[in-house]
Amino acid sequence: MDFILGFFTPILIYALIFALNALLPGRWVTGYVNKPNSEEKMIYHLNGFPVFSILFLIWFLFGYFDVVPFDYLYNHRWHGLAGAFVLGTVFTLGVVLPYPPVRKSFFKDLFLGRIENLQHWGGRVDAKMWLYLAGATMLGLNALSFTAHHWILYREHASTGILLSTILIIYFVIDYLIFEDVHLFTYDLFAERIGFKLGWGCMVFYPYFYSIFLWTTADLPDPQTPVWLLAIYVLIFFVGWILARGANMQKYFFKRNPGKVFLGIVPEAITNGDKTLLVNGFWGISRHINYLGEILMATGIILCTGYPTLIWPWLYPLYYVVLLFMRQRDDDKRCSLKYGELWKTYVKKVPYRIIPYIY
Ligand code: NDP
Repeated sequence: MDFILGFFTPILIYALIFALNALLPGRWVTGYVNKPNSEEKMIYHLNGFPVFSILFLIWFLFGYFDVVPFDYLYNHRWHGLAGAFVLGTVFTLGVVLPYPPVRKSFFKDLFLGRIENLQHWGGRVDAKMWLYLAGATMLGLNALSFTAHHWILYREHASTGILLSTILIIYFVIDYLIFEDVHLFTYDLFAERIGFKLGWGCMVFYPYFYSIFLWTTADLPDPQTPVWLLAIYVLIFFVGWILARGANMQKYFFKRNPGKVFLGIVPEAITNGDKTLLVNGFWGISRHINYLGEILMATGIILCTGYPTLIWPWLYPLYYVVLLFMRQRDDDKRCSLKYGELWKTYVKKVPYRIIPYIY
């Protein structure tokens, strides 16, 4: 019985997120991607932060009134992972099989998807934005529950570092949800289709792998990391956040209104008369400083747990290194095709791909 309940928990949570996303009021935002076979932009209904807040409240109230223990998701993490795994697989098949093939290989289609964008009820629910909301919310709930387990085990001897790493990952989740509309301008939205990578990735990998640093340290005792070292780890996180959030916001404002000053930075751009590229501020440091930011944030988070010699927490930032270094190469190719000579000028002006003076 326990297994069955644990198995169905993420499925219930995802269903609730779907209902709240569709039914709660939200902001109607014009995106960056065009509607299929049209010059008109897609419209999105965004309410990620209120949806997450309601789920958080349910988790808290259920725990507080002893309906469901605070650490239920930790105690049933393997059952939950199995449930999410099955749902993610069924979702992938359901979102790929009904659509016509786009590649010769069926398995490539299954992995990378066939349909580019999928919306229902006039944009009230958008598959990609729902997937990111579902993954982010489930990651937040897992992190809270895993840390609750640590707290229940150790109480006054609980590790400040574990609590801190949870605060930072929740900050990461809330930051994404508050700036959800900025995500409409990102690679996943304009360059990817919905298949295993995005569907299964958001339902299974995102919430269960990104929490690996807590999954593997929540039952360990306080490593007694000195406060000054914790302060450095938090600093690493926030330096990363400034780079990632700053670059994303500068590009977002530039795309919305090319003349708008951001954080006192007057946008400087190169143009071929038709297309323009930003060349100053965050986009003048390296061509993907936001990727470095993302890696630093993950590094700060896992270091806070206080077990730097344990390999498992490191898998989280290492995954980012692999994903983002590969993505930078793909994006460079895409931009080179889209912008032609203008991209070559940008590369000459800003030669570093991700890490200034190194790479
Ligand atoms: P970017 O936000 O960097 O988007 C790249 C696109 O921006 C390019 O294809 C191009 O598209 C445009 N662009 C590139 N250079 C310039 C320039 N100089 N001036 C104007 N436009 C430019 O990358 P992603 O979409 O991959 O990532 C978005 C965010 O999401 C990043 O912060 C990333 O780190 C984060 N992310 C987070 C992940 C996570 O799991 N936490 C995973 C992956 C990404 P166009 O010209 O068509 O606008």
